Amino acid sequence: MYRILIVEDEPQMQAGLRDNLEFEGYEVEIAGDGESGLEMIVAGNYHLVLLDVMLPKMSGMDVCRQVREKGLKIPIIMLTAKGEEIDKVLGLELGADDYVAKPFSLRELLARIKAVLRRNPDGAAIRGEKVEFGRLSVDFSTYTATENGQPVEMTHREFEILKFLWQHRNEVVSRDQILTEVWGYDAAPTTRTVDNFILKLRQKIEEEAAQPRHIVTVHGIGYKLLV
Ligand code: CA
Repeated sequence: MYRILIVEDEPQMQAGLRDNLEFEGYEVEIAGDGESGLEMIVAGNYHLVLLDVMLPKMSGMDVCRQVREKGLKIPIIMLTAKGEEIDKVLGLELGADDYVAKPFSLRELLARIKAVLRRNPDGAAIRGEKVEFGRLSVDFSTYTATENGQPVEMTHREFEILKFLWQHRNEVVSRDQILTEVWGYDAAPTTRTVDNFILKLRQKIEEEAAQPRHIVTVHGIGYKLLV
């Protein structure tokens, strides 16, 4: 089943889109502002995003730009107001796959969605479930990893940490962030536990664990996955 994320702040529009898309057999999730939309796109597993331009906290254009800057190829259809925004959406080359101008007909929107999904049937996969960096090839959907074609043995927890680092690649993440995201709020382990897992991960994926080139330490803060 295709999973669609709607990033839209108007409650009526949210409800209308959700009802109609669910009726068409899509699985739907909703973000009500640009910031949470961006977070859900990065962390989630969607085939397509419907992204409104005018949003609280962060505009749809900025969301789109940041998604592409992060290297995510998830298909995006922008929902624009009629008029000047369309030129911007197209002219700025934000990397959106298509747009529809409000007010749009449901038929038109569904046709656009179908067309984009036809061109990108595995949107969720190309948005980052199978990734490569260094000599490592990782499939987060099957929890398998290979290095130069040879399987790399990793535990579920190690995959989860690596996935979180990948979702925030080239950014600094703190040990607390890793604890919260991978172990959850109620978890008891200390940041020391995170360090131990990072050590093990390095032994598995770095050429020289003592001189890591991918999972680097950012002193006083945490870690950064360089790809
Ligand atoms: Ca809006």
